Amino acid sequence: QVKRDPKVQVARLKLPILGEEQRVMELINENEFVIVAGETGSGKTTQIPQFLYEAGYTENKMIAVTEPRRVATVAMSARVGYELGLSSKEVSYLMRFEGNVTKDTKIKFMTDGVLLKEIQSDFLLSKYSVVIIDEAHERSMYTDILLGLLSRIVPLRRKRGCPLRLIIMSATLRVEDFTENTRLFKVPPPVIEIQSRQFPVTVHFNKHTYSDYLKEAFKKTVKIHTRLPEGGILIFVTGQQEVNYLVRKLRASFPYHKGVDYSSLINKKVNVVDTSLDSEPDDIESDDDEVEKEMKRIRKARKKAKRKTIKLPKISLDDFDMPEDDGQPDLVSDADSEGHLSDSDADESTLTPIVKSSQQPLWVLPLYSMLSTAKQGRVFETPPAGTRLCVVSTDVAETSLTIPSIKYVVDTGKKKMRIYDHVTGASAWRVVWTSQASAEQRSGRAGRTGPGHVYRLYSSAVYQHECVPQYKPDLCTRPVDHLMLTLKCMGIDKVVNFPYPTAPDRMQLRLAEKRLEVLGILEKVEMRNRRKDDEEVLKVTPLGKAVSAFPLLPRYGKMLALSHQYTLLPYAITIVSALTVPEVMSGKTDSWPATGNMLLLGDPGVLLRAVGACDHSTEALSVFCAKYGLREKAIIEIRKLRKQLASEINLSVSGVNLVVDPKLQPPDDKQAKLLRQLLLSGLGDQVARKISMAEVKEGEDKRKYKYAYRCSDLDEPVFIHSESILRKVIPEWVIYQELYETGPDDRKKMIMRNITA
Ligand code: ADP
Ligand code: MG
Repeated sequence: QVKRDPKVQVARLKLPILGEEQRVMELINENEFVIVAGETGSGKTTQIPQFLYEAGYTENKMIAVTEPRRVATVAMSARVGYELGLSSKEVSYLMRFEGNVTKDTKIKFMTDGVLLKEIQSDFLLSKYSVVIIDEAHERSMYTDILLGLLSRIVPLRRKRGCPLRLIIMSATLRVEDFTENTRLFKVPPPVIEIQSRQFPVTVHFNKHTYSDYLKEAFKKTVKIHTRLPEGGILIFVTGQQEVNYLVRKLRASFPYHKGVDYSSLINKKVNVVDTSLDSEPDDIESDDDEVEKEMKRIRKARKKAKRKTIKLPKISLDDFDMPEDDGQPDLVSDADSEGHLSDSDADESTLTPIVKSSQQPLWVLPLYSMLSTAKQGRVFETPPAGTRLCVVSTDVAETSLTIPSIKYVVDTGKKKMRIYDHVTGASAWRVVWTSQASAEQRSGRAGRTGPGHVYRLYSSAVYQHECVPQYKPDLCTRPVDHLMLTLKCMGIDKVVNFPYPTAPDRMQLRLAEKRLEVLGILEKVEMRNRRKDDEEVLKVTPLGKAVSAFPLLPRYGKMLALSHQYTLLPYAITIVSALTVPEVMSGKTDSWPATGNMLLLGDPGVLLRAVGACDHSTEALSVFCAKYGLREKAIIEIRKLRKQLASEINLSVSGVNLVVDPKLQPPDDKQAKLLRQLLLSGLGDQVARKISMAEVKEGEDKRKYKYAYRCSDLDEPVFIHSESILRKVIPEWVIYQELYETGPDDRKKMIMRNITA
């Protein structure tokens, strides 16, 4: 009964998946678990929900489709609704803070986090007949957890007599993690491989890798636009700011003025440009005789030059500096430069008069997750006549969205990734090389509608040696203590034995569970169990709930949660930030005399005062740091972390509105004492006791034991760091942040870092 727009029907019929509808539906009807793998753009996300709809899966219940990205959730629900001729009342989306679900919703797109929340209140997902986990190859933490949970929910639903189907959709990546994992699925689910029409994409590496990848991306885009035939350009950068920056710059360079007719420019450029760089001149359609003649002339000249490089005139741009053409072999692959012409041996005379400054406008659009829904949709619209589409995107365009008519991909090879500090669990977004798998995905975006080109703005050596084949699943990169608490907060009791698609180290998980129990973040609860004896599980305590809001390892989260009660949060944040950065002090503890509780606060106290003193100092930071034995870079890093932590806490902890005070006063004696207690609350499992001289064996050199302590985990003694301010005190009991080993092989010693009395 579906009435589709004829235009939609035409577009759909081009997708090979349509010819496989019967096979796909048979497999889904006959299996509870099915994996659908296919290249990006093959029609998984838009077509399979429609197949299910037409097969009657929405008669009493809904179809759920989860996406790891907000941007795909909105775009895909809109597209499927449009293709089915249904309104957003029936094909809807839901994500945190936003959605358009109604009581008539039949197909519900949602972020994976939202479905996870729904499982917490309705474990059997009784509203749904099918759950589709889309983009499973992205291996987001929530997706992995959903897969684990659904592997158990589906059999439960069968037992209740109302079966649920699980469809896992993925790019053709790492499917074995799902099929060969017998803990997840006892019987490997069938895999449907969707064939897709993928045109060849020529890969061009840069010969050199420049650190200013934005500048490179800009230069390359200018060259593509001014020299190469029609076809959309897709540029991959790392974040929203970079997207906006490039969009502004490109728009200023090739402006589009409403009302101007650009259609005459377009053909001219196609031909001119083709002569210089494109290797498939047959593709060009032209109805402009003038230009056709010009083309012939140029082709002749080109032949004569025997594939010598042709240099095009400089492009005149109005309101910014065009980067100097530095003769770098751009647009040329260092692996395969055959057939492509480089700038270096240019023959200016052959082509000079053709490209004019009256350029074809570039229709530049941004794309990133936080972009408003309306603006995101613009990338799917046809650009104004005579303009060339250029989308500047973060990695959302890598697999989740297929932008029509992209022929050129400019890949910076970079992406942003959350990197965790191993000691405190503090995380920061860092720009890193993409994986090789991502690079391939990005390339593939150029070959959806015809042969394409990808310009990687880095060398093939970087690709081979710096890019990992694939990044680990998100869940496996998180610090285990943090993961443990996150999963427990979701109501997953058996975190150690959870059926992960890829399991983190289970031994580490077990240790983490113990640690959190010691810290009072988890506690034993007796569970009545009808079949077995009563069993004990560790559940999150109210304190644990509060701690989980802090974006740090639970032990540090606990310090912050408790410090909040005593309005010590600004100090605690500073201390935690300082504890995250290595080697802040370069000796010279004498510079930081203290008494009372401030002295007993030990190394964290010194760090706190050092950071505060830098803020109060009127001297240049470098001068001040040199004078007092501080590493300037470390101080800058601490300041950054402090700001970041404050803003993350403002976001995640309700009722907190932290402003990093540049003129924080030193804590008074009472506050210093409370800070010691806070540190103890988080490091209570890392305690050491002074070894008394009476314990030292007969015949041993007592002097060696002056700073020696006994801790619970080791047989050998551990020592106070030689630079620690607490060498002056040698307290009976200390807590330490971590242990490390130093010294030559035959005289190795365990040292305690950052101790407090
Ligand atoms: P997959 O999920 O396999 O990556 P999709 O179902 O997202 O593939 O896309 C199938 C096809 O539909 C692609 O060719 C894509 O260009 C097209 N498409 C998807 N969304 C839109 C849209 N909003 N407007 C136009 N075409 C679209
Ligand atoms: Mg998809």
